[in-house]
Amino acid sequence: MQLQSFGAACTVTGSMHLLTLDTPGGQRRVLVDCGMFQGGDEMEARNHEPFPFDPAELDAVLLTHAHLDHIGRLPLLVSRGFRGEVHCTAPTAALAETVLLDSARLQTDGYRSDIRRARRQGHEDQVRPPLYEEADVHRTLALLRPHLTFGQTEKIAGVRVTPERAGHILGSAYLLLDTPDARLLMSGDLGNRESGLQLDFTPPHAVDAVVLETTYANRTHRPWAQTLEEFRDALRDSIRAGGKILIPSFAIERAQVILHTLKELMDSGEVPRIPVFMDSPMATRATNEYFEFGDELIPRVRDALQAGEDPFRPSTLHVVPTSAESQRLNKYDGPAIIMAGNGMMTGGRIQHHLKHHLWKPSTNLIIVSYQSPSSLGGRIVTGADTVRIMGEEIAVRAQVHTIGGFSAHADQDDLLAFLSTAGKPHVWLVHGETAVMDAFLPVLEANGLKGDIVPDRQTVDLLGPGFPAGRPPGLVVEGSAEHAARVTGGE
Ligand SMILES: [Zn+2]
Repeated sequence: MQLQSFGAACTVTGSMHLLTLDTPGGQRRVLVDCGMFQGGDEMEARNHEPFPFDPAELDAVLLTHAHLDHIGRLPLLVSRGFRGEVHCTAPTAALAETVLLDSARLQTDGYRSDIRRARRQGHEDQVRPPLYEEADVHRTLALLRPHLTFGQTEKIAGVRVTPERAGHILGSAYLLLDTPDARLLMSGDLGNRESGLQLDFTPPHAVDAVVLETTYANRTHRPWAQTLEEFRDALRDSIRAGGKILIPSFAIERAQVILHTLKELMDSGEVPRIPVFMDSPMATRATNEYFEFGDELIPRVRDALQAGEDPFRPSTLHVVPTSAESQRLNKYDGPAIIMAGNGMMTGGRIQHHLKHHLWKPSTNLIIVSYQSPSSLGGRIVTGADTVRIMGEEIAVRAQVHTIGGFSAHADQDDLLAFLSTAGKPHVWLVHGETAVMDAFLPVLEANGLKGDIVPDRQTVDLLGPGFPAGRPPGLVVEGSAEHAARVTGGE
């Protein structure tokens, strides 16, 4: 039972784990997730590197959930030779379509404008082509098998696979993999037990090894009730200021949590009803899937849906479909809440709203997502006087509110609660900054568990303490001379 982690070992994006498993039918190679690296040029350059294995040699791909950092390179895997099946839950498949099509569109649009600019400067050779286009996404979607159901075991590539509820976003699963040797748990991203929409993760039964995400393994989230109060107070202050209220939000989960919270706060009279503009076609499409798979959500939301209500639609909601209408919003007079992506403000429609309103003291910017220090949002949060937006220097005069408690990730208490029912497994840490994982190791030990950090790209034997050198036998690395010989040899 061997694991090689290629992304999300010592970082939080680009999740991709190759498992080499012994089954009664022989050795099988199963890839868990195939995510995109995000967050800055250097990180994103890694998306263009060859896969460290031959995609054609994989027996199957399993997905934990539909976030781009877990599925964003799937179309690339397909264009580079993967022809097997991609197994996931039905909501994950539905969201994956929205996420991957949006990703292809962003890349092709970005490439077109970058190449135009580069041509004028005479260095078009430095512009990286898109990783994939819409046609590649459609080929990928055709391989999706949305048959995984929580608690039901399926035999996939000779391995017994049981998905269980992870409580992170709609459709998110952790995966139990049974071979004759052992039982392995791949956590994917685990949810915050106090999230606004998702049911709690299902406590796991005893396993032999856990590959565990550690995004927030070093911290404790603020209680949910306190987060809601902070959000309500920020909204009240903002509405009094009379200007625009900008809420940058990621399209999946965060946008739906905020819509649902706005509806509840306005319906209960805690916050005055003012117009809410949802200016993100991707968030609107994703919200439709939350509506479709409402049975998966917390009882309050599920019951509202069954009673024919729309828990994601404040009575003053306006959906903004086209970018022309989005731009017309700049001329809209009076107070209004504008929700737009992306969450870190590094692109998307939020940018032109910021350009038009960030310099006005009557504007309020309510931040509900994590901001990486190098992102536009990160610079605003850390108190920059001016920021560059769409080629223009803009003064930051808006009131900035940061609400930190809306996280969809498990914190340290959640992770320990998760492990508390898993027996005495060896815990392999992934999907965290190195300092966070270092800090979590002694916590594991204090809880009677043995842990190790999975080193990027190296093979680890999940059942043994050692790190065997080299890669699993017979693994041919894409791009290597061995692989080239095989490809040109017409195999
Ligand atoms: Zn995630």
